[in-house]
Amino acid sequence: MTTNLSFFKLRQISVKCPSCETPFATFELARTPQVTAQTPMEADLHRVLPDAHLRAALIAMCPSCIYTWWLSSFQEYHLLPQVVADSPPVSPSKKFAHAVHSGRQFEVHAVDQAVLALNGYWCSREEGVDGKKFLQLAKVQLIQALADNDWSGNRSRYAYILGEIHRLLGEFGEARFRYEQVDKMAGLPLELVDRMTMFAANGNNNPVRLPPHMVEAIFLNKRSATA
Ligand SMILES: [Zn+2]
Repeated sequence: MTTNLSFFKLRQISVKCPSCETPFATFELARTPQVTAQTPMEADLHRVLPDAHLRAALIAMCPSCIYTWWLSSFQEYHLLPQVVADSPPVSPSKKFAHAVHSGRQFEVHAVDQAVLALNGYWCSREEGVDGKKFLQLAKVQLIQALADNDWSGNRSRYAYILGEIHRLLGEFGEARFRYEQVDKMAGLPLELVDRMTMFAANGNNNPVRLPPHMVEAIFLNKRSATA
């Protein structure tokens, strides 16, 4: 691993595929530095990681049936990683594309598909490749989730995130429409929603880094919901 990982740490572990039961070796994110006001966060409410492999370690890919999903849903296996098969050597963002495919195959809820696709977009940027396809997919899935009356997630917060997705895609009218649906249930500072509404009005589709006081308000305020 490169030295710019600083306080992040990856560790190899053995897991068992929940789909075909094949044991295989994969990496897990064994240590993540705590969030402080100086932690790089962007306005779509994600933490910028210094290496794409860190985010890719949040998902695991079975070498036998290619089932790919969040590592937390795989059971640990008792043999050492050195004696079981390795996970396929795909690039971090490709791994997320496989996870999207598995999510479709297993018909997970639209919001879970959206969160996965968003991570695929963030991972692509961390890898230095274009992640617009993931962003488009996250948009479609999030619109579907918000239209599902049986879904009980934080609609206000996801409306804000959908606003950000639209803004990043250059769809400024749709972005402002979604920002207007954000209320105090989102647990977000009004200043943030106002600022992003202004950016959309000015036709700004760039990723926006959150200033330290907003990182504090959103991620270090115990009363606000977590992303
Ligand atoms: Zn498998």
